[in-house]
Amino acid sequence: MNTYARFPITLTKGQGAIVWDDAGNSYLDFISGIAVNTLGHAHPAMTAAIAEQAGTMLHCSNLFHIPKQQQLAEALVRLSGLAAAFFCNSGAEANEGAIKLARKYFHDQGSSRRTVISATQSFHGRLLSTLTATGQDKVKIGFDPLPPGFIHVPLNDIEALKAAITDHTAAVLLEPLQGEGGVNIAEAAYLQAVRRLCDEHGILLMLDEVQTGIGRCGTMFAFEQAGITPDILTLAKGLGGGVPIGALLAGEKVAASFGPGSHGSTFGGNPLSCTAALTVLATIESESLLENVNARGAQLQQGLNELRRRFPVIRAVRGQGLLVGMELATEAAPYVAAARNEGLMILLAGPNVLRFLPPLNIREDEVNEALALLASAMESLA
Ligand code: PMP
Repeated sequence: MNTYARFPITLTKGQGAIVWDDAGNSYLDFISGIAVNTLGHAHPAMTAAIAEQAGTMLHCSNLFHIPKQQQLAEALVRLSGLAAAFFCNSGAEANEGAIKLARKYFHDQGSSRRTVISATQSFHGRLLSTLTATGQDKVKIGFDPLPPGFIHVPLNDIEALKAAITDHTAAVLLEPLQGEGGVNIAEAAYLQAVRRLCDEHGILLMLDEVQTGIGRCGTMFAFEQAGITPDILTLAKGLGGGVPIGALLAGEKVAASFGPGSHGSTFGGNPLSCTAALTVLATIESESLLENVNARGAQLQQGLNELRRRFPVIRAVRGQGLLVGMELATEAAPYVAAARNEGLMILLAGPNVLRFLPPLNIREDEVNEALALLASAMESLA
């Protein structure tokens, strides 16, 4: 089915932060599969771990105990401060599971709380529940009837959120930084106020870190930067480093609402995906990638701000770590194409924002090269 407006090239190979097309042209990859290639392409540790697991066992995820799944759950629990994990295959599935868990938690208490409040411009996935939670109308057209129980409020507006909360509210679902919606940062003070409001009302705070999590924003999870902890956390994308996996984490009381038979997935948490995710986590640690994300992210933002002084079409530069956006005063799509013609892969985040998502192990010289290629692209359109 013709569901995607694809770039007009065919990629055949990747190594580190470089990808090649079928004509042999190389590109600096500042897309990383939309934030999935955490370790770049063909990282030797990843290749070896996947090959070893493939030669040992491929199986479903849910009939037997799987040591790699257990180890991954323990690692994510330790890193997040939450108590238990459920594994699935994608970001949308993780958010669907989070919504189900929140509802079941209140159901188990005999409470009628069921409604989920999320932010305008948010993106939470393409399943019926998650596209309804998504705060962008374009993903909903033609898919009605949409499930009831979803409300949207503007990001960073605590009064709007206060006004939206009722006795039926079960949870607030937010991205700490909206990736698809335009690289919009949820302010730390806002997240802290949302956390307090949720506690006051006995509502769950669910954070969608599908795009921001696993080091992308310079901390293992973006919520750490606001000094808060969610009740439910969702992950996917970068967790598998290119292999499909999603995860849903929750505190002890909430997690207890999922028992045998509550929820499930044939592939979620299979040995291959868990091996890939464990390799991602181990490599972030062994190669000090969080430090790299912060250093390279600062370098990238500084370089983009220098371009801003040269090209008045650039309105703003913003982001956290290596999730960086550059807002233009015009349509951004021609700039994506121009950058690709120069040999730099970048992405849109909404109609007038360019998004930069290099692998977390991107090097200093590669960031400089990307900035030079972008400058040439901007000049070609000036
Ligand atoms: N949540 C966020 C914040 C995302 O950025 C995305 C994907 N862009 C999703 C959920 C959906 O993830 P998936 O495509 O793996 O279902």
